[in-house]
Amino acid sequence: MGKMFSVPRGTIDILPEQTYLWKKLEVTAARIIERYGYREIRTPLFEETELFAKCIGQTSDVVNKQMLNLAAQKQGCERTLKLSGLSLRPESTASIVRSYIKNNLDKKERLSKLYYIGPMFRGERPQRGRLRQFHQIGVEAIGPDSSVPYLDAEVIALAVHILEACGIRDFSLMINSLGSAEDKKRFSGILRRKIQPFLKDLCQDCQSRFERNVFRVLDCKNTRCRTVVRQITMNEDCLSDASRRYYADVCRALEDIGIPFKQDPFLVRGLDYYTHTVFEITSSGLGSQDALGAGGRYNHLVEQLGGPRIGAVGFALGIERMLLATGGQEDTPSRRTGAHIVVMDEQWFKDGFALLNRLRRDGIQTDMSFRTGSMKSLMRSADKNRARDVIILGEEELKKGTFSVKDMGTGVQSEMESYEKMKRHLERANHAENAHVR
Ligand code: AMP
Repeated sequence: MGKMFSVPRGTIDILPEQTYLWKKLEVTAARIIERYGYREIRTPLFEETELFAKCIGQTSDVVNKQMLNLAAQKQGCERTLKLSGLSLRPESTASIVRSYIKNNLDKKERLSKLYYIGPMFRGERPQRGRLRQFHQIGVEAIGPDSSVPYLDAEVIALAVHILEACGIRDFSLMINSLGSAEDKKRFSGILRRKIQPFLKDLCQDCQSRFERNVFRVLDCKNTRCRTVVRQITMNEDCLSDASRRYYADVCRALEDIGIPFKQDPFLVRGLDYYTHTVFEITSSGLGSQDALGAGGRYNHLVEQLGGPRIGAVGFALGIERMLLATGGQEDTPSRRTGAHIVVMDEQWFKDGFALLNRLRRDGIQTDMSFRTGSMKSLMRSADKNRARDVIILGEEELKKGTFSVKDMGTGVQSEMESYEKMKRHLERANHAENAHVR
């Protein structure tokens, strides 16, 4: 027997009964995002490794431990791709900022509002809600006009709106401000002083994080480190007056539109590029991997990557975790859609096939059983297909040029005297069906 192949560790097959839920979620999210004026951008799935290292930070776990590099191919092969120095994208912000700069979007518009939906790759230890290939929906608002508190609030409100529109209720939004680059320095100095007495209690990783990027100690999931972090209190205000005002304006804008949030002075996020507003949305039902999404402002990244000195703000939501939070399965398509042709004898397949083609060309979702059998068994397969209407082609219908259409929901069968009449009937049903997809 041949070898049975499995999916690579940390990846999943998304089968048709789930793709239905995925597409529903993606379409819902994209509609809401476009309502806020964001347009889709698609960037490559891999980029120069250095881009990610520069953006996300050499000391971050993502760059240090989770980057999936593309290995160089064997030399001498004619089709060798020069893949060394490239990595699969662990997130999208770096790619989008690279593309923004390269395509001079700042010269074309004062504010670029961009969104993406797609797979990301991180070499993590897989567990529930944590995969090596996972999917994110995210937005980035970049441009000279992007550094206003209302835009931070808009981006946060949009993330909340998407989750609600996807039927997720049980989540909480935490926000914090890291302030400007100088404020961040002050913040890290204070943190170092507070953590110093407990240094020996921290895990190996955090002992080196302490020197290189103390913020990451706050994000560590190790229980010893969490105990240390819980002991320290944060009464000092590290923010400058301007940063404090900015943060207060973001909070006020959220309050004004009724978005509930909690402030968490220890929320710092794992990626280096954040300044000012950072936020995270968690759901208690998700277990240890409880973050549905996160984001914030990154005012220096565009400049750091060789672009103009302009700000940006964005977020990313994890699709797998959103689906876990909606319960994932319960909404499998019990809904009936489209028409299904059944033909009572093989000699009429030709007529059935022609009708199938005509209806499809006329915009009606239609399928056909390419087999004959008893009426009962043909109806059973149409029912299994979740057809909304079954078109029965038998001797009588073909002789008279009529069509028998059975509504599989009500069981009512009607005879339509012309193709046009049947088509209108199916179109009306199609329309009624789509009307409730908001
Ligand atoms: P991050 O880019 O790490 O801020 O992640 C944003 C969101 O993406 C998280 O809140 C998760 O919902 C999702 N996410 C991140 N990493 C993974 C992963 N390895 N597997 C599944 N979802 C993930």
